[in-house]
Parts: sequence; structure tokens; C-alpha cells
Amino acid sequence: MKRYWVDRAALGRNIDLLKARAGDATVFGVIKGNGYGLGTVNLAQVLKEHGIDHFAVTDVREVTDLRRSEFETESILMMEGTCNRQEIGTLVENRAVLSVGSAEDALRLDAEAKARDLIAEAHVKIDTGMGRYGFLPTQLDEILHLYSDYPNIRFTGIYTHFFNACNPTSTKAQYKQFHETVEAIRNAGIEPGMVHCCNSTAFWQYPEMHCDAVRIGSALLGRVNFSGNTGLTVIGQCQAELEEIRTIPAGHSVGYGAGWVAKRETRTAVLSIGYSNGFAVDKGYDLWRTKDCIRGVARYLKAWLKKKALYVTVNGKSCRVLGHVGMVNMVIDITDCDCQLGDMAVVNINPLVLKSVDVVFE
Ligand SMILES: *Cc1c(COP(=O)(O)O)cnc(C)c1O
Repeated sequence: MKRYWVDRAALGRNIDLLKARAGDATVFGVIKGNGYGLGTVNLAQVLKEHGIDHFAVTDVREVTDLRRSEFETESILMMEGTCNRQEIGTLVENRAVLSVGSAEDALRLDAEAKARDLIAEAHVKIDTGMGRYGFLPTQLDEILHLYSDYPNIRFTGIYTHFFNACNPTSTKAQYKQFHETVEAIRNAGIEPGMVHCCNSTAFWQYPEMHCDAVRIGSALLGRVNFSGNTGLTVIGQCQAELEEIRTIPAGHSVGYGAGWVAKRETRTAVLSIGYSNGFAVDKGYDLWRTKDCIRGVARYLKAWLKKKALYVTVNGKSCRVLGHVGMVNMVIDITDCDCQLGDMAVVNINPLVLKSVDVVFE
């Protein structure tokens, strides 16, 4: 037996804490990527219970799933652009707020809305350095034309996205560009509506950038990549039963390739969690910039010098994973742990990479 447990009350406390910090700014609950792995609708339900009625997603299906559930009136911002006419149509019919990042986007959205005799709602997306989805700040003319040339689109907001909110220099530069674009629109006599740029990290680090709304995803789960005491609880815990307990003699091996051999008699337990469930799968290296290569090698060396092993926790005690992690199971050392068949091990898996494990909110 295994499950991924979400502490509903702790999640609620995170939401309340973030809302309080946002003050007057509207909080968008970002629930993309299947709700950061916890389930889009599940996460939205807890957000709704805590007074959040603005959501942000990146997939058409997330919009339809929400509308089909109990989320009929909430505002749902679709942050990903789509050029697909059928998808645009579905988004318009489901009253999503679309993102428009080019004249072409606007043209297609206007046409699909018109074909349905609807006025679509949209936010303008500005690309200040992410290199995807959005007008460049230099395209001011095209941006200004949005507000007059597309009768079936109502523009109610404008936003940008930071590429590295941990870096104050680049973030302040991006913010400046964004702010200047918004001011230029206002100077042309147009009110751009809801202005927003912060993700979790920027929201936490730069209160002066909160504007009218903030888009919070990872901080809901307390999984933030900046240090300091936030008061947030890390949400999501994989729990797996000890499914077989045995004692193996010295000299006996464990796992494929006999990756580990017992030096002494060892009490072991099997868990039905493996790499196919997302355990011990690292982020892939997809960058070949020199500094990333050096960083990769340094990390590997550090792990090797420390003889870094993988651990899980059983009854509060840290237990080492023996040998290679299998596809669907792994073996742990419970020699010094007071435990029995059926006890639960806590296995650290980020829900974003979790697979084939039921998520339980309670
Ligand atoms: C994912 C995403 C967010 C939320 O980011 P977190 O760092 O998880 O808070 C905000 N805005 C956009 C455009 C995103 O894609």
C-alpha cells in the first residue's frame, strides 16, 4: 500500500498566510501541472474554501475540469498561449480569461469569440525576458492597437513573468520594463486593468512589485526555492507500507547489479515505491552552458565525497535505501529501527514528479 498524503489543514494555513501577506492584492491560485501534482480540482477546492476565487492554469483541460466541477463563476486565467482554433473556442465557451501575446493571438481570439457571438476576456502578456508568449516592450504600437481593433475581446489585465525571481538585479530590470510599458499604455489614455507580475518567489521577496494581483503556485505547497523562515509548511508526503521484512546474511546482495552487499547480518524491508513513482529522479540536465556543466560536476563530486545515500523515514528514524532503486520497489535497512510489517515509511517525493500514487487530502 502506498499513498500521497496532503495535510488539508496545513495547506489551508499556508493559503491563509499567503493571503494575509498579499493584503489588497488579488491572489491567483496557480494550479497548473495538475495542481503541482496534487490534482487541479483537489487543490482548487481547498483554495476556494479559503476564499480564493481567481485561478491560473496552463492547459485547456484544466479549464474544462474546473468548469465541470463546482467552479462555474470563478475567474480562470489561461497563462499559456494557444494558436489552435478549437482550443481557443473551448476556452472562450468556458469563459476563461485568455492571454494575448501577439497581434496574431488577438486576431484568432477575436474571430472565435465573434463566431460564437461572445465577448472574450483577455489579459495582455508582455515578454520582459522569458522569451516566450508575449509582446516585447518595444512593440508598444501593436499593444495599443489591441484596445481598439478587436471588438470581441475585452482586455481586463496585463502581466509579465520573471525568469529568475531569486535574482534581484534581473527581476528589478524586468519589473522596470513592465512598469514602463503599463505607464505608456496609461499615458495613451487606456486603462489596462489588473496589473500583475509576481510568482511565489517575487511575491515573497519584493512587496513593492505586488501591483493589483499576484500569481502563487509553489508557495501554496510550501515548496519555495529561497531560504529564510517563511512559516509555510511543506505540503505532500509519500507514505509506503513496509511490505516484506526479512533478515539477510552477511555477503548477500540487494537489487539489480548487486549494487549493495551486506557486510553484516541486516534486517531489511521492501517498499512498493520505485523510480517509476518519481522517487530519486533528478531534474534532467538540459543546459550545456559552461557554468551549468561545472555546477553539475561539482554537485556530483560533492555527493560522491559525502558518499551520499538515499534515505526514507520509518517511525521517526532515518533508514538507508540499499542498492539501486528499482522501477517499482526498493529495499531499506531497518536493522536499527523499531518497526513491523505494515508500518509506514515516509518517502520524500516532490508531487510534481509523482506518478501512479493516489493523492489523498485529509
Ligand atoms: C507557474 C507560473 C506561476 C507560479 O509560479 P510559482 O513560482 O510556482 O509561484 C506564475 N506565473 C506564471 C506565468 C507561471 O507560469
